Amino acid sequence: MPETPRAQLIHIDVDRRLGHEWDEWDGRPLPNRGDYDSSPALFFGWSALALAAGLGILALALFLLGPRLATLHPVIPSALWMALAVGAVVLWCWWGVLLASFQTGRALLPERLAERGPFLRLMRLTSRVAGRFGRRDWVENASVKVYNALALLRGRKVGKGELLLLIPRCLSKDTLDGVLGIAGKYGVPVFVATRGQLARRVIRERRPRAVVAVACERDMVSGLHDVAGKVPVLGLTMTLPAGPCKDAVLNLGQLEEWVRAYVV
Ligand code: SF4
Repeated sequence: MPETPRAQLIHIDVDRRLGHEWDEWDGRPLPNRGDYDSSPALFFGWSALALAAGLGILALALFLLGPRLATLHPVIPSALWMALAVGAVVLWCWWGVLLASFQTGRALLPERLAERGPFLRLMRLTSRVAGRFGRRDWVENASVKVYNALALLRGRKVGKGELLLLIPRCLSKDTLDGVLGIAGKYGVPVFVATRGQLARRVIRERRPRAVVAVACERDMVSGLHDVAGKVPVLGLTMTLPAGPCKDAVLNLGQLEEWVRAYVV
């Protein structure tokens, strides 16, 4: 059988240095051995809660500041209430179209109004709210699934050299071998991005037309926020059986499927 060509790895660093997203980790094993697999419905539930909370905070601020603003001009409070009401209607309609898009498998919004635009901000807001209740990783897993489903609806194709595979420094040896095997098989360049800043630099310098990125949920959500607006990205999250930032494993079948989705 012909040997599968192996990709050239540009840089790798195997020390356990925690990514800043895990600064508060207490050293105890992660829940469910670091597997945060969740249903996409979790994202829609928490994002609705995050939107309601955000709008509620704005309404409370307006309620408290209203009398002072009225001393500047009596029409200011009612104008601001009207703007808030219109903004709330627009936001909830947009959220409803996102949900419909996900449920029907049809791209009902342009990319700039969906997974490459305000959706990324909603992911961050939802993560923050979920984080307050200790559910961050599960909700982020669900939100990355929704993000990928929306991104895959575009059916984008690129040349082999135009796709970039971004991987973290924490993969287990077997997983890294598997990733390099897939990259070599499809002729896709692989980069180890040790920090979001480096990922952005690699993207700036290589100018790929699409990226498949691998990271834990925490790093993925902040990374998508940084780069998905600039270039189409599919994000594959990992399982962390040995805790954060060491010996991470991932679904190699899913990785290959996404590489194929872009280049074949
Ligand atoms: S991707 Fe890996 S190295 Fe980066 S923060 Fe997540 S677990 Fe740590």
